[in-house]
Amino acid sequence: MSKKDKGRCSFCGRDVPYEQLFQGVDGKFICFDCIEGAHDILEEQYQLDSGAEVEEDRRRRKDKERSEAAAAGIKNSGKLDMKTLPRPTQIKAFLDQYVIGQDDAKKHLAVAVYNHYKRLLQPESGDGVEIEKSNIILVGSTGTGKTLMARTIAKMLAVPFTIVDATVLTEAGYVGEDVESLLVRLLQEADYDLEKTERGIVFIDEIDKIARKSDNPSITRDVSGEGVQQGLLKLLEGAIVNVPPKGGRKHPEQEFIHVNTQNILFICGGAFDGIEKKIAQRLNTQVVGFESQNKTKRIDKDNMLQYIAPQDLKAFGLIPEIIGRLPIITYLEPLDRPALRRILTEPKNAITKQYQKLMAMDGIQLTFDESALDYIVDKAIEFKLGARGLRSLTETIMMDIMFDIPQQDCVVTREMAEQKLAKIDANRLVA
Ligand code: ADP
Repeated sequence: MSKKDKGRCSFCGRDVPYEQLFQGVDGKFICFDCIEGAHDILEEQYQLDSGAEVEEDRRRRKDKERSEAAAAGIKNSGKLDMKTLPRPTQIKAFLDQYVIGQDDAKKHLAVAVYNHYKRLLQPESGDGVEIEKSNIILVGSTGTGKTLMARTIAKMLAVPFTIVDATVLTEAGYVGEDVESLLVRLLQEADYDLEKTERGIVFIDEIDKIARKSDNPSITRDVSGEGVQQGLLKLLEGAIVNVPPKGGRKHPEQEFIHVNTQNILFICGGAFDGIEKKIAQRLNTQVVGFESQNKTKRIDKDNMLQYIAPQDLKAFGLIPEIIGRLPIITYLEPLDRPALRRILTEPKNAITKQYQKLMAMDGIQLTFDESALDYIVDKAIEFKLGARGLRSLTETIMMDIMFDIPQQDCVVTREMAEQKLAKIDANRLVA
C-alpha cells in the first residue's frame, strides 16, 4: 500500500489518503476532518454545559448576596468614593452586627480595608508618596469567624467577593495555571466587569496548608508547597494575570482576560495548627535575659495567638516573600462558652432568628428557652463542634418541629432539646 492509496471515510464518504485515516476494529475508516469536526462539536457542547452551570451557580449566589445586602439595609451604589467609603469605626460597627467578639481582628481588618480603598482613591499628587497594598492574614482556629468577617466586609462595600481554597492548589501539579484560576470566580462575581473585578476582595482560605513542612528548606524540602507559594506571590504583589474566563485548564487557542491584581485586596486565612508552639519558642528565647521573670509572667498562655508575629509564620513554613506581601497580621480568639452562647442569638442573622423566621412563615411564633440554648452550647463544646456545630445541633432539635408544623406557637425547652439530641451520633453533625 503506497502513501497515495486511498480509503473511504465511513462518516463523510470521501476517499482520503490512508495517512489521513484512522481505522477502527471493524476495518472501517474515519478521516481526520471528521475527527476534528466531532471534536469541535464535543467541545462546543462541553463549553455550553459548563458555561450554563457556572452561570446558574453565579446567579444563585448573586441573588442570595443581594437579598442579604438588602436585609442588612445596604444600598448597593456600586461606586466608592471618599464620601461613601465607610470609616473604620463604621466598618467595625457593621462587623459587630454579624460577628461576635474578635475585636482585634475586626479593628485590623477595618483599618486595612479602609486604607486599601483609600489607596485606590488616592489623588495623583506627584509627591512621590505611594500608599502600598495592605493585604491581610487572619490566623485563628477553624470556625472562629474568618470567612464570615471577610464576607461581611465585602457585603458592606458591595464589591465583588470570592472565597478560594488554597488547598486545591497543592493538588494540581501545574501551579501557574491554577493560581490564575483563583480569579475566575471573582470575574464571575463581577459579571465579567473587569473594572469591578480589579477592585474586588479575594479570601484565600487555608493558606497554612501550602506552608513548607519545615522551616529549614535544606531538610525535608517540600517543593510543592513552596511552588504554590511562589505562584501566589505574583497575585498578591500585583500583576497582570491571564485568566481563562471559564476556568479550567488553559489551552492555546483560548482567549484570556487580563486581570490586574494590583488593586485586588487579598485576605488570607488559616488555622496554623500548632503555631502556638512556635510563638512560645520565640517568646521564650526572647525573654531569656535580665527581665525574663517579669516578661514570662505577663504571657497569657491560654491565648498565644495574640502574640503572633511574622517570624512565627516563617517558622511555620510560609516563605518570607509571601509574608512580606501580607503586612497586616491579626488573630482570632477561640470561641469560649459565652461567645458561642451569643452567636446563637445575637448576630443579625443568628441561627435562632433564622428558625424563628422560618416558623413565622407558617404563622407560628417560635421561642427558645434560655436553658435550651445553654444546652445547645454545652453540646457544641462537648462534641468539640465550635460555632459551626451550633447550626447542626439546632437543626437536629428543630427537625421534627419543622416537619410536623405545630398547630400553635412553640417553645423549645431544655427537655425537648435533651430528648432530640439524646440519640444523635456526634460524628454526623457538621463541625
Ligand atoms: P472560619 O473561616 O474561621 O473557619 P467561619 O467564618 O466559616 O469560620 O465560621 C463558620 C460559621 O460559624 C459562620 O458561618 C458563623 O455562622 C459561625 N461563626 C463563627 N465565628 C463566629 C463569630 N465570631 N460570630 C458569629 N458567628 C460565628
